[in-house]
Amino acid sequence: MRITVDRSKCTALGVCESLAPELFEVQEDGSLIILNERPEGSLCSAAREAVEGCPTEALRIEED
Ligand code: SF4
Repeated sequence: MRITVDRSKCTALGVCESLAPELFEVQEDGSLIILNERPEGSLCSAAREAVEGCPTEALRIEED
């Protein structure tokens, strides 16, 4: 899988980071960094939770 973010929708509140800190990090300037765009194993379920938890639907998962 691959995680993508639509930056025009991201409000940088960090719900994804709180659900999956291994995968997401919100910077002080309000930009979102995806630490691992291609999670594997147990991180895949964390990625899906973060995508579902994003309040602005900015995150997407593309299946390989
Ligand atoms: S939860 Fe969604 S809106 Fe919030 S920081 Fe993450 S990607 Fe951006």
